Amino acid sequence: MRVILMGPPGSGKGTQAASIANHLGVESVSSGDLFRDHQKRDTELGRLARSFMERGVYVPDDVTIKMVMDWIDDPAHANGFVLDGFPRTHAQAVALDEEIESLGGIDRVLFFRVAQNELVRRLTGRMICRQCQTPYHAQSSPPNTEGVCDRCGGELYERNDDKAEVVTKRIQIYSDETEPVVEYYRSGGKLREIDGEASIDAVSEASLAAVSG
Ligand code: AMP
Repeated sequence: MRVILMGPPGSGKGTQAASIANHLGVESVSSGDLFRDHQKRDTELGRLARSFMERGVYVPDDVTIKMVMDWIDDPAHANGFVLDGFPRTHAQAVALDEEIESLGGIDRVLFFRVAQNELVRRLTGRMICRQCQTPYHAQSSPPNTEGVCDRCGGELYERNDDKAEVVTKRIQIYSDETEPVVEYYRSGGKLREIDGEASIDAVSEASLAAVSG
């Protein structure tokens, strides 16, 4: 099964990706995490991506498409996958369709709908585990011990691009560049809309139902 998670930054894609993938018996990948991993390893790609990510704008399509296609082409992902944060542009969606057309294409696209004021609230209080990427929120889902991941004990940090001024820019770019991609999949009949403002458990239940049905 090949699934795409779509929605604005802060809509909960990253929170749901692992459990959906686990349910389907496949792996999930976040294009943002792939870029952050390159930055941590200080690769050429990581250095290039950093200049775009810090400003809250998209990394160019050619670079992004190659990085994600390399992941998809790994034989370990031949049986399916969950994509979080890719595709975000029309060119990325077309490249993905072409790449997996012979394998039957995308099965399901989940779209997490969340209002803009809620996105800003979530992103500006967000902390992420450096090790396992689990997200927390200072007010609505704090860790048991401040600064420490409940799941793996890793250190929590605030992403540079979760600062208030960058968050607004990211949401604007999402609506300009990525909302048309949501419509592209909606017209293909594969899109399932999820109320992303419900509780994490309710969103999870709705997501699993949407990929199962
Ligand atoms: P995310 O972790 O999904 O919020 O992504 C963080 C940042 O990585 C984005 O603001 C972009 O700069 C970059 N990025 C992630 N995925 C993509 C993509 N599919 N296309 C272009 N840039 C991306």
